[in-house]
Amino acid sequence: MVTYNKLGVKKIINAAGTYTKYSGSLMKEEVLLAMQEASRQFVDIDQLLSKSGQYIADLLGVEAALITAGAAAGLALSTAACIAGDNKDLARQLPLSEGLKNEFIVMKSHRNPYDQAVLTAGGKFVEIGNAIETFGWELEAAITEKTAGIFFFVQSDLFRSSLELDEVIEIAHRYNLPVIIDAAAELPPKENLTKFIKMGADIVLFSGGKDLRGPQSSGLMLGKQELLDKCRANGYPNHALGRPMKLDKETIIGLTTAIELYLAEDQDKRMKCWEKQADYLYQNLKDIDGFEIELGYPDQPLTQPASIPRLFISVAEEILGFNKEELRDKLAQSEPIVIVESDKNNLLINPHMLQQGEEEVVLRKIREVLKEE
Ligand SMILES: *Cc1c(COP(=O)(O)O)cnc(C)c1O
Repeated sequence: MVTYNKLGVKKIINAAGTYTKYSGSLMKEEVLLAMQEASRQFVDIDQLLSKSGQYIADLLGVEAALITAGAAAGLALSTAACIAGDNKDLARQLPLSEGLKNEFIVMKSHRNPYDQAVLTAGGKFVEIGNAIETFGWELEAAITEKTAGIFFFVQSDLFRSSLELDEVIEIAHRYNLPVIIDAAAELPPKENLTKFIKMGADIVLFSGGKDLRGPQSSGLMLGKQELLDKCRANGYPNHALGRPMKLDKETIIGLTTAIELYLAEDQDKRMKCWEKQADYLYQNLKDIDGFEIELGYPDQPLTQPASIPRLFISVAEEILGFNKEELRDKLAQSEPIVIVESDKNNLLINPHMLQQGEEEVVLRKIREVLKEE
């Protein structure tokens, strides 16, 4: 058997979160078993996509669902669906979209590295607003006969320059335009799975490989049946834009299982566990000379999911002899590797993806690094 060990790939203690680079999240045993079971026979992928979508939609009480090869793939498919619909001719033409309805309106503060998936599918962004403010009339003024949809990035809604989602949906629907929402990392809370749909969003995208703990290469799309059917027309296994975003049967069954488990899971219990891990680290690190620690929840935009308690450690270089980035890098070079994040002001320790007991390893490694100095 090939193992990470055999390849020389090192284990990571993940005190940063569900980062794609650090392999997202860990699947539950039941998910792996379901995938193994699914691997033993042939099925029709079209039928599997349609039946799993129906099953998930029923579980969540939403109109329609579709499994994709990640939230970013879902973004590309949404784009294709808004441009080409279910017209086979147009679908084959993408990403070339010259002369088609291909514009997506986005607030400047909502641009992010994942939105390249919109461009990949032939979409063009029309930006509105600025770093300080955006007005509803700017959104209305940007709408033309070339507009295919409106893109909204949930993590940006804490910026004061962001329009409220309510208002965006109201304006979009007045002009018969779909609102596509990137909510890839907005879980927990579990309620967010349906929150944006209930607000009237047309497509909402989640990562399957983050808090849902499905296969890392999976994603979940929720929304209006008619629009999701168009996404499917542009997606795998059809010969269309989505063909390279392949989805194996095991992944589809894996994410469906993960969602079912997610809904049945005691989310309060998970939260208590994170609180306990964060508190353990806080109690054991708070008296260190050179550390000033706040235990709390992020109130800045772009630290997601905001619902997980974290340690915000301010590192005094004049006392410790190194700054927060150096401390972060030393932890990343330790054995085992400990990954933590840093932002402008602090070192961040996030228990979201820490396994039980790993908080003790994080503490030990921090102490070791401090002692080396
Ligand atoms: C992770 C992430 C994505 C991409 O999701 P994948 O499932 O990895 O494709 C898109 N948008 C945001 C905000 C994310 O955090």
